[in-house]
Amino acid sequence: MSSPKSPSSSERLVVLDGSHGEGGGQILRTALSLSLLTGKPFRIVKIRANRDKPGLRPQHKMAVEAAARLGRADVLGAEVGSRDLVFRPGSIEAGDLTLDIGTAGSTGLVLQTLHLPLAMRSETARRVALTGGTFNPKAPAFLFLEQTWRGHLANLGMPLALAMPSAGFYPKGGGRLEAWIEPAQPRPWIRTTRGDLVRIRGVAGTSNLRDDVARRMRERALSRLADEGWNVEIDIETASWPSPGQGAAIALTAEHAGTAPAAFVGLGERGKPAEQVADEAVDELLDFLAVPDAAVDPHSADQILLPLALAEGRSVYTVSEVTDHLRTNVATIRAFLDREIEVEEPVTPDQPGRVVIS
Ligand code: ATP
Repeated sequence: MSSPKSPSSSERLVVLDGSHGEGGGQILRTALSLSLLTGKPFRIVKIRANRDKPGLRPQHKMAVEAAARLGRADVLGAEVGSRDLVFRPGSIEAGDLTLDIGTAGSTGLVLQTLHLPLAMRSETARRVALTGGTFNPKAPAFLFLEQTWRGHLANLGMPLALAMPSAGFYPKGGGRLEAWIEPAQPRPWIRTTRGDLVRIRGVAGTSNLRDDVARRMRERALSRLADEGWNVEIDIETASWPSPGQGAAIALTAEHAGTAPAAFVGLGERGKPAEQVADEAVDELLDFLAVPDAAVDPHSADQILLPLALAEGRSVYTVSEVTDHLRTNVATIRAFLDREIEVEEPVTPDQPGRVVIS
């Protein structure tokens, strides 16, 4: 097991402003991953300053604690509500990790924080089991991780397997996400066009709700997609997920030749009709398809930036949208790595943006 060098107390901290750009939890999570990978200690101030409830939420606290456990780090300021934190990593610990977020907070975001340090600093496959939310608003849902994130990582030479033995929805949580991560170093990746649309597939799933909810999500998505008149196979299945709580979600996945499947998720909530849940996924899918040369969806755009910034060699990819998450992640990565990253904005709405990592 290789270990990042231990910082001495006189070593300079990387200092981050948590209110910069998007100003959310992503700045902290990217910093935790990079600190574990580079051995550089950091301080982050004004944590999640742009959010309604600023400072660490339980999900962020868990990401900090999990990263600290994995990297034998010293941490100051890891309480819920804290807006100022110092993280000093040690060496990476071996063995499996079992983590309970304790709320419905996103298991996927915690997994993404740990993934690269686990893959790049381990000599044997690592298993991570997380308890919490597997379907959260504004975070990668399990179906997105399983299809899209895993697909991109496979293209970068970083295999992993994922399972969701139990779904977790707000407010109960209690979902389980399991990951088996192979040791790997990321490869650079160049993809500036999208192949032909081969197929659209979907899953409309519920936990402990009436049967008609999944059926209605499926029918609405099928009827809206049929209106588009594409000559491709469209196949949406229904599913019933075991869960301690109740919830509904639909994932619609566009499969194009030569790039990772792009999954778009609509998430149910009390009082939101099943048709509206389906519409949210359909609208996101159509926005992506409206930019013909975009190889990467808006959410993956910021997520694959980190492995590609760590890969040796030049990467270039086109994106359907340049988001604040993407721009902010560039700034956080550059605080740790001496890497040139350029984000080119789209010139017209039907043209993609471009990310170039030199
Ligand atoms: P907060 O915004 O409250 O700080 P947060 O910690 O969840 O919460 P963000 O900084 O907003 O953090 O980061 C959210 C991450 O989730 C980003 O990487 C973003 O790309 C990803 N994400 C958001 N929505 C989706 C989605 N529908 N599918 C996949 N990934 C998503």
